[in-house]
Formats: sequence, C-alpha cells, structure tokens
Amino acid sequence: MKNTTLNIGFDDTDSPKGMCTTYLAYKLVNSLKQDNVKFLDYPRLIRFNPNIPWKTRGNGAVSLKVETKNPEKVKSKVIKFVTKFSDLKNGANPGVVFYENNSIPQEFTELSKKALWSLISRSQIKKFISKHNLESFHIGNGQGLVGALGAIGYQFDDHTFELLSYRKKSQFGKKRNIVPSSVKQMQEKTYPKTFNSFDTKKEKIIFAPHGPDPVFFGIRGEDVDSLFDASKMIQTKEKPVGHLIFKSNQGTGDHLQNELEIDSIKPYSSGVIVGVVCGEPTIEQGGHIKFVISKNGSELTCFVYKPTGITNDAAQLIKGDQIRVGGGIRRSSAKHGRVLNVEFFEVLKLQKKTILTNPTCFKCNKKMKSKGRNQGFECKRCGKNATKKITLVLPRKIKNQLYIPQSSAHRHLTRPRQRIHVTNKNTKFVNSSKWISNYN
Ligand code: ATP
Repeated sequence: MKNTTLNIGFDDTDSPKGMCTTYLAYKLVNSLKQDNVKFLDYPRLIRFNPNIPWKTRGNGAVSLKVETKNPEKVKSKVIKFVTKFSDLKNGANPGVVFYENNSIPQEFTELSKKALWSLISRSQIKKFISKHNLESFHIGNGQGLVGALGAIGYQFDDHTFELLSYRKKSQFGKKRNIVPSSVKQMQEKTYPKTFNSFDTKKEKIIFAPHGPDPVFFGIRGEDVDSLFDASKMIQTKEKPVGHLIFKSNQGTGDHLQNELEIDSIKPYSSGVIVGVVCGEPTIEQGGHIKFVISKNGSELTCFVYKPTGITNDAAQLIKGDQIRVGGGIRRSSAKHGRVLNVEFFEVLKLQKKTILTNPTCFKCNKKMKSKGRNQGFECKRCGKNATKKITLVLPRKIKNQLYIPQSSAHRHLTRPRQRIHVTNKNTKFVNSSKWISNYN
C-alpha cells in the first residue's frame, strides 16, 4: 500500500457550555499517534473573522496534515471522535472536511482568506464542496464546514504557536488555581518569545479561560521550544492531562489586511479604512469614544470602547486628522447605523490644532486686552496696540503612531506590540516529543 497525504479540517464542535475544538484535536492526535499515523506538520489552529455573530468564543478551527497508508481508517476515526466529543446538545454544528493531496489548491486558500474578514454562507461552502468533489461530514446545519475547509486552505504569511494545556475531566468546571506571580515571571523571562500571558497593567493572568472548557491555560509565542520551556515555569497544584502545541495565525493581525469601502460595507466584516476624521470625538455613556471618518465622500461612525485602554488617545483626534483604522462592522441598530468597532488606529497625518487668541505684547510679554468689539487690542502696561487676534498652534497630545488596545482587550488575532516587526516564515516541523505531551 502506498502512502497518502491527508489533510483533515474540523470545526464547531463546542458550545459555550463546554468542550473545545482544540481539545478534540488533542484527543484525536493522541489516538492517531498510537495508530502510528505520521504527522507532517504541527496541528494548525486557525482563527477566522472574529466578528461573525454565531462564534462560541474565538472563532477557531483546526486542521491536521498526516501521512497514512490507510486514509479510510483515519477518516472513520476522525468522524468517530467528532461525533463523540462534540457538544451536540448545546448547539454545536460540527463539520469535517478531508482532502487527500500534499499541496492545497489556490481556490481553497482564497476561500480561507475570505473567511478571515467576511461572512461565508452555508450554501456557498456546500457548493464549493460539491464543485471540488470533497469528502466531508457534518452534523446539524453544516456551519462547521466553513472553518473545517478554511483551516485546510489557510496559508501562513506569518505564524505563531500556542501551547494549550488540558485539564483532567474531574477538574472541568472547577476554578483554575494558578500562581499569578509565576505567570508574570514566565512572561518576563521568556519575552519576546511569548506574549499575552499576563496583563502587567491590571496585574492579572490573561492566559487561562474562566469557563467550563477543558483548557487549563494557553501560552502563545514564537516557537515550540520557548513555549515548552515556558510551560515548565507555571506553578500550580493542579496536574493537567497533557498539552498540544498548535501552529496558528493568532497574533498576526491577519483579519485586518483588506481595505473596506464605506459604501459597500457589510455587517460583520472586518478590515481597515484609511480616512479623515470629520469632527471632534464625543464621549458616550460608559466612557466609550465615538468619532466619524470619511473616505471618498462617504462617512462611517467609529467606536473605541473603554476596555481597550486607548479611549484617551482616540479622544485627542480632531477634524482633519488622517488615520488608518481597523476593526469589525457592527450591524445597524435602532440607535446607530453601521458602526466600526475599532481594534486599532494609526495616525498617519496630524492636523494642526489652532486657536484664535488675543495678541501678546512683544515688549512686555503680556497678553493684550480687548478694547471692545472690533476696536483692536492694547497692552495695559506699555499701551502698545494691535488690530487682530493671532492664531496659536497648540501642542497635540497624540502622535503619528499606532494605537493598539491593552493586552487584556486583545482578540486572538490582534498583533501585539512586541510582534509589530516580527514575521515567522518557513518554520520546519520537528517531530520531537515537545509538541504533544500526555502526562499520564
Ligand atoms: P472556539 O474558539 O472555542 O473553538 P469558536 O468561537 O470557534 O469556538 P465555533 O463553535 O467554532 O466557535 O463557531 C464558529 C462557526 O462559524 C463555525 O461553524 C465556523 O465554521 C463558522 N465560521 C467561521 N468563519 C466564518 C465565516 N467567515 N463566515 C461564516 N461562518 C464562519
């Protein structure tokens, strides 16, 4: 029998009440390894458009690339695991796609790219699957097929890794007791090889979920060795069952690559707009900042939310500032039309901020007093006169730079500050014992 390369994509196995697609991957990969299936790459955790309304948490899907002499056996195992571990009674709509080939067609990649920033309908994905005669499996409405196919088609221009540590079943739903100072120290010691584990401003752990899902914690970073070493620095009494390291598009900002046109903007899409601020920002209830930008004569309202930590900066924008702003489009409500929820903004060109004020006497260095309406100004000390007010340029409290939210408000795809000029390419797959561990 000859060897076949099999790509396996799956998604939508979890619900807010439990389970997690990456945990299913952990179980599945362990089982496939026991069957001596050869892995050709790290498991891939791909985050798609964070603004779709029906995601459970971070809109993540998983794909695996394996080599096997018996693809049918692998496929039936995948379907068995997806059926067994999906949280079907709480609304999961799992989808699985198989593709037997070493290289991935361009059309798959294009569809995957689209899923990063727009909405893909179920009929669109089902048509794609039948056009390419792909083997697929789904339970429920088939929504999971979007992520399943997207995860196979995704091509990395940049990537990061995440080590996900999983809990024993007996611990599911219980409080996670992790020593915060050990996480802080781990982050300091491993910087810049890991990111977003600890929020130093709020002095709190941000690498562990709070909910009932099986994830104990997740360490994000640049390479497998750094993550493996970092995981050993975490102090806790709980003994997890094991970990799996994923290659991921997290921290790459990949959902904010495309330029949106205000006139044809669709709700739930993500992207960037280069425009000019139309007026002074206003402070809304809750401390959120609202401003309007215009591009090619069309206007769009933007909201910067308080938890991002960049509202004070956004409040400094003035009419005429040119900015590049990225985020997701909220659908219109009774109160607002379509709104861009800001995930970052970059000041490209600052307008001069000026005020008209009474002239200063050159001799006495004192502000002159008005002599009455349209009668000019006079220095009270030396009697010198002037006719007009002068224009004063005020310092701007905002700079030509990028403003990104504080780490506790980051989405999975947000590019953290420390990654701004970092791009990982061509990481070779090393089939060591580090990327998957079973502690039992
Ligand atoms: P977790 O992060 O815990 O894995 P999740 O947030 O990924 O959960 P899912 O339960 O997987 O949530 O739900 C996301 C659903 O949206 C999946 O069915 C996925 O196939 C689908 N989906 C992903 N991207 C798009 C898109 N751009 N358009 C339409 N559907 C999409």
